[in-house]
Amino acid sequence: MPVKTSLESQTRPVSSTEPTTITIAYGDGIGREIMEATLSILEAAGAELKYEEARIGEQVYLEGHTSGISPESWEVLRRNRAFLKGPITTPQGGGYKSLNVTIRKALGQYANVRPCRAYTPYVESNFPDMDLVVVRENEEDLYAGIEHQQTAEVVQCLKLVSRPGCERVIRYAFEYARAYGRRKVTCMTKDNIMKHTDGLFHKVFDEVAREYPDIQSDHYIIDIGSALLAARPSQFDVIVTLNLYGDIISDITAQVAGSVGLGGSANIGDSVSMFEAIHGSAPDIAGKGLANPSGLIHAACMMLTHVGQPRVAERIMNALLRTLEDGIHTADLYNETFTRYRANTKEFTQAVIERLGQAPQKLKPAKLGDGAKPIQVKVKPYTASNKKLVGADVFLDWAVGQRDPNELGHALEQIAGSHLQLKMITNRGVKVYPNGLPETFCTDHWRCRFVSVDSKLNPKGTGMLHTAPVPYGEIVALLQRLADAGLNFIKIENLYEMNGERAYSLGQGE
Ligand code: NAD
Repeated sequence: MPVKTSLESQTRPVSSTEPTTITIAYGDGIGREIMEATLSILEAAGAELKYEEARIGEQVYLEGHTSGISPESWEVLRRNRAFLKGPITTPQGGGYKSLNVTIRKALGQYANVRPCRAYTPYVESNFPDMDLVVVRENEEDLYAGIEHQQTAEVVQCLKLVSRPGCERVIRYAFEYARAYGRRKVTCMTKDNIMKHTDGLFHKVFDEVAREYPDIQSDHYIIDIGSALLAARPSQFDVIVTLNLYGDIISDITAQVAGSVGLGGSANIGDSVSMFEAIHGSAPDIAGKGLANPSGLIHAACMMLTHVGQPRVAERIMNALLRTLEDGIHTADLYNETFTRYRANTKEFTQAVIERLGQAPQKLKPAKLGDGAKPIQVKVKPYTASNKKLVGADVFLDWAVGQRDPNELGHALEQIAGSHLQLKMITNRGVKVYPNGLPETFCTDHWRCRFVSVDSKLNPKGTGMLHTAPVPYGEIVALLQRLADAGLNFIKIENLYEMNGERAYSLGQGE
């Protein structure tokens, strides 16, 4: 359904471009108030846009659609390149899925982008020079949502990281830096611990960084990186990181900048991208005219740049900054020193519209210009690895007697057969057999590593000196022998060598 904005467009500049159709959804709580405000400003600023509405949110959940979007709205979303979304209320309790996660994953929105800057002194922050962007991988990592309870005591969550997943978001971060005139991209991982998953992200980062010699690059381990973000955020420019770390640091940065209520974010996909404020539906102030529309206005500016209208975005951002500077503040931003007029949502909106064409005088103006072109990312084809099966980690649910690892180890030595040997047993990653320490606490979850009898690690630990490949049939036969012996296996992970390199981690103490 096309949506008309209420405002007359006397201030609207004449333009010859074809309007871009975007999807909008009002959402819940303060959603309608801030969306109407944003659409008025877009129209007054001369954005060449047409709108189609999608139905999402609390009412749709309560109608029985567990992901919060009505079935017919998917078609609307898929038709248009950009989706401007109001905040929604997720009903409490059973069975409701996060709408954002559903949309991101279903539409392949691989990068979450959150610019974060300080607006001091008008919005309080200890870091007036802070102006950074967090680009977060959006589909993988622990957010694949693959979790299992495996034994009475142990649950697991699978961390999935793919090469194309890393490359797309990292390339996006570098392209973003170029398009927006930023000088540095910082990668954050925990690859000192997760050498294969986070290690892949870091490795792909180094590969991609070499293709952008005009942009500086560096890497921090996520813990010290986060600490520096909280203590010296001004030293960062663009940050790219995995999903979970990105989720956490983007909230830290917004908080440190003092701009949670003003921030916008983008979820970027190849065909459909979604733009929204970072705050929620604020049911406590809904319908009272108190809502600050700045977060959604900011998101709309990101969307305008994405659809090729950066000049309009710049105009709106600068009018918004000027409004803040002029001391026209909604209640959430009120402060005795700088607020000259405490505005309701409509008055604030009108103040922004009146300032279109003006620039801030103290705050750094937004400069998007024509350089900020829509960003296209292409992942390079990757040649398949030479992959050899060299063993298996078999996970057992075992809680017999005193849980003595030696008892389990001796039993497994007998069961290993003629092609495989028991290399070690670990409990929560720590080696407990052979030669474990009696102090190590053992749960009922045991990882038992079987490798080819004809194998030897090279002294550097990077691969095998020589390994006889293990036929799949041998692993199946091993599982059968375990079952026959009454041992309860809960899963296996095959062990591979890829291009002659060990493609699995060693146990602690292995
Ligand atoms: P919230 O962000 O909605 O509100 C937190 C506080 O900030 C409240 O006091 C609120 O009044 C205030 N606030 C938020 N936005 C404001 C604005 N634009 N202007 C003035 N004040 C504002 O967070 P919450 O209360 O934890 O969540 C409320 C609902 O929003 C929940 O159902 C939650 O699931 C949902 N939520 C949705 C999204 C989204 O749609 N992307 C994001 C976060 C939370």
